Amino acid sequence: MSPIVIVGSGLAGYTLLKEIRKRDTATPVMLVTADDGAFYSKPNLSNALTAGKTAAALAGASAENMAADLNATILTHVRVTAIDTQGQRICTSTGELEYGKLVLALGADPIPHGLAGEGAASVLAVNDLSDYAAFRGAIDGKRRITVLGGGLIGCEFANDLAHAGFAVDVVHLGEWPLERLLPVEAGQRLADSLAALGVAWHFGRTGKSVERTADGYRIELDNGEIIAADVVLSAIGLRPRTQLAQAAGIRVGRGIQTGRLLETSVSNVYAMGDCAEVEGLSLPYVQPLMVQARALAATLTGTSTPVAYPAMPVMVKTPAHPVAVLPPKLGAAGGWKVACGDTGICALHVDDSGRLQGFALTGSETGRRNTLMKELAA
Ligand SMILES: Cc1cc2nc3c(=O)[nH]c(=O)nc-3n(C[C@H](O)[C@H](O)[C@H](O)COP(=O)(O)OP(=O)(O)OC[C@H]3O[C@@H](n4cnc5c(N)ncnc54)[C@H](O)[C@@H]3O)c2cc1C
Repeated sequence: MSPIVIVGSGLAGYTLLKEIRKRDTATPVMLVTADDGAFYSKPNLSNALTAGKTAAALAGASAENMAADLNATILTHVRVTAIDTQGQRICTSTGELEYGKLVLALGADPIPHGLAGEGAASVLAVNDLSDYAAFRGAIDGKRRITVLGGGLIGCEFANDLAHAGFAVDVVHLGEWPLERLLPVEAGQRLADSLAALGVAWHFGRTGKSVERTADGYRIELDNGEIIAADVVLSAIGLRPRTQLAQAAGIRVGRGIQTGRLLETSVSNVYAMGDCAEVEGLSLPYVQPLMVQARALAATLTGTSTPVAYPAMPVMVKTPAHPVAVLPPKLGAAGGWKVACGDTGICALHVDDSGRLQGFALTGSETGRRNTLMKELAA
């Protein structure tokens, strides 16, 4: 019997494997991954300094232990290079493998920063444990870090680095951090709290070039402003890994497109996690991939189960001023009603009849999250 083959050992791949084993201990499952297959929780990368953890300390069970615990075959340092959807085979860097069902849990790539200059190749991005090990090596003994991008990941790294005593500059195209998720008052409060910790903001700006200097890097912004840094970290966003699927004739849009059963446009090939676009939605967070893993495990073990997302708030790990946000649905009517207190902001997105559609809470107001979730569920 050809196995279920999962490609990717991130939270998506491993959570699916665990969910399959909760339901079925016998079906052969093989997990193939381009990395070393060590289990880790990616969200921990952006607050590891504050947590006092090195990259090595963030690594959990090895691939070998995961394979033994979950009764699976795990192939590490093996890259899938092509999918033969007719013959139900994958080509890998070490040979061909057959699959009964194939699950693509390939994650996403950092968006190229596009900066010019001879220092551009030294700009780092952190999207997995080995990137993080390289980043920690680079900042060791250094002081000045420039972060490109003031979205969720950029803000979290800025908080973690500033808290650890680094001098942090953040270059952000928007006029306030997380501008696609937060109303201006909430974003500004987050920016002010990080500024109080020492973060220097450069709003409405992008980086133009990075040159090496005698003692680090010289970053020129699009308005001619210059920032001096020891390390440059790009956190301008991720884009789903779709190339493998696209080359195999599987339909892709922003991500690998699936319906609610997570099946792609090709039979017996599924996609989940950061690489997937489920019914038009790319949700690159942990909670959606957990919901997907439970549903797909049921489907793959014989109970066809469509994904049904509950309301899933996004928590931003900025202890200087935490944020909890549940964005309203795309194109929702109505607007934000914002109440600013001394220690936090409560912004409610309501429609014309006053019905709650989403929220953005900061600081002490994040404590209202559960009550608002109940109101939304009702
Ligand atoms: C710094 C940071 C902080 C975050 N914080 C939060 C947070 O607080 N809350 C939250 O909800 N989300 C957070 N996220 C997002 C969350 O971590 C991701 O949504 C999630 O980890 C994605 O898991 P994944 O398994 O889909 O992808 P990945 O973890 O990227 O795994 C992809 C896997 O596919 C493998 N792979 C890729 N291509 C191939 C190939 N061709 N052949 C073989 N193997 C291949 C890779 O080696 C890897 O094992 C954060 C993300 C980052 C970067």
